[in-house]
Amino acid sequence: MPNPFDLTGHVAVITGGNRGIGLGIAAGLAQAGATIVIAARNEAVNETAIRQIQSAGGQASHCVTDIADPGACQQLIDETLRRHGRLDVLVNNAGIIIGGAPEDMALEDWQKVQTINLTGAFLCSKAAYPAFKRQGRGKIINVASIAAIFGSAKGASYAASKGAVVQLTKSLAVSWGRQNIQVNAILPGYIRTDLTETAESHNPGTLAEKIARTPAGRIGEPEDFAGLAVLLASDASNFITGAAIPVDGGYTVQI
Ligand code: NDP
Repeated sequence: MPNPFDLTGHVAVITGGNRGIGLGIAAGLAQAGATIVIAARNEAVNETAIRQIQSAGGQASHCVTDIADPGACQQLIDETLRRHGRLDVLVNNAGIIIGGAPEDMALEDWQKVQTINLTGAFLCSKAAYPAFKRQGRGKIINVASIAAIFGSAKGASYAASKGAVVQLTKSLAVSWGRQNIQVNAILPGYIRTDLTETAESHNPGTLAEKIARTPAGRIGEPEDFAGLAVLLASDASNFITGAAIPVDGGYTVQI
């Protein structure tokens, strides 16, 4: 019986895959056999990430991409198809946070968060759709946040963008279900990455507070995303679509 989690011969694009959660997902998909294309802005960090995947036996290349640029999302998919002739998995992971009280938030900062976290995911998905349709199958994994569930006093733009990513996930799942395209969201809890190290440096004590509130008694690591990403990228999830699944050590289920 074929292994339903096997990704051999599949091509996966991961936006923001050069570090943090995106790299954890890229490494997991590569280990399951997928050929990886990492899409992020910093060329040197991209190179380091693909070397890390290659040294573990995986196949990876990168494409310098700023998903805030609408044309770049299309170019990323075109370049992936030029290199590999197919596209099987799109992981919309790139994201930023700009903190601050809503009453002090500049419109420019609000829009920057929506452009990268929400519009980038939409444009990459739209660019990927023709290839998925042609191939008769496709997988989209959107990395949202548990901020899609909770209100955030100093992260209104971020929480709004992530709530919208979950609704985008459901809408694409409904629109493209008949084309055998599954679209799901992962909701990370508090994970050890550059993003949360910045939060900790601005608000010391955040980490300890999160650990105290997490049933698992720890924060997450990028490697914690590999298993769910492989499931959602593989044939094992062919009847799962429109779901938003927390990876948070139980943070969102504790009253
Ligand atoms: P990091 O800050 O560690 O990494 C962000 C990644 O996004 C980098 O690879 C960065 O690469 C890339 N990126 C940022 N802006 C752009 C852009 N305009 N175009 C292309 N790539 C971009 O973040 P995390 O790993 O912590 O977060 C990954 C995702 O998980 C995000 O969507 C985040 O919102 C979400 N998340 C994270 C949580 C956490 O606790 N860490 C909790 C909940 C959700 P480069 O700078 O080279 O472009």
